[in-house]
Amino acid sequence: MNIPRHIFTSWMIVWRRIRLGARLARLGIIDASDCPLCGLFDETVDHLFFECQYTKECCRIIDKVTVYNCDPSTLESCNDKLKTITGRFIRQVIQSCYVGLLYSVWQQRNKAVWDLCLQSPQHVMKKLLWDIYHRISVVMPKKTSKRNREWSRCLIS
Ligand SMILES: [Zn+2]
Repeated sequence: MNIPRHIFTSWMIVWRRIRLGARLARLGIIDASDCPLCGLFDETVDHLFFECQYTKECCRIIDKVTVYNCDPSTLESCNDKLKTITGRFIRQVIQSCYVGLLYSVWQQRNKAVWDLCLQSPQHVMKKLLWDIYHRISVVMPKKTSKRNREWSRCLIS
């Protein structure tokens, strides 16, 4: 159920193939290594995608909308918590939300670095959840239960 453009970015993050501020500063490519989203800590994969207040606010929005509490602090804990969700359909949708979250945070990070602008977590998550709702509407199996179909509407409510 993942949106295809989200998959590549999340793969790069999971395998730590992206170059962020702290690493670029160590290599002498840039001077400052501050997180472009909060400006409070070094920009590392763990900080940007799991510890940054901006990302945590995005997670809170997903958790509130889906009524599941994944609140990942690491990739591993996110994976562990996803495994505990019963019901394949709901688990896949929430997984899509978190894959999309990584993509969205990466996009906002790049906007902050290159365009010097940053959209609010509310705005970014509303768009993400809307995109995911439309994606699952297209790929949703015909045998999806009425309960799951109704639950999926929480993404756009
Ligand atoms: Zn930060």
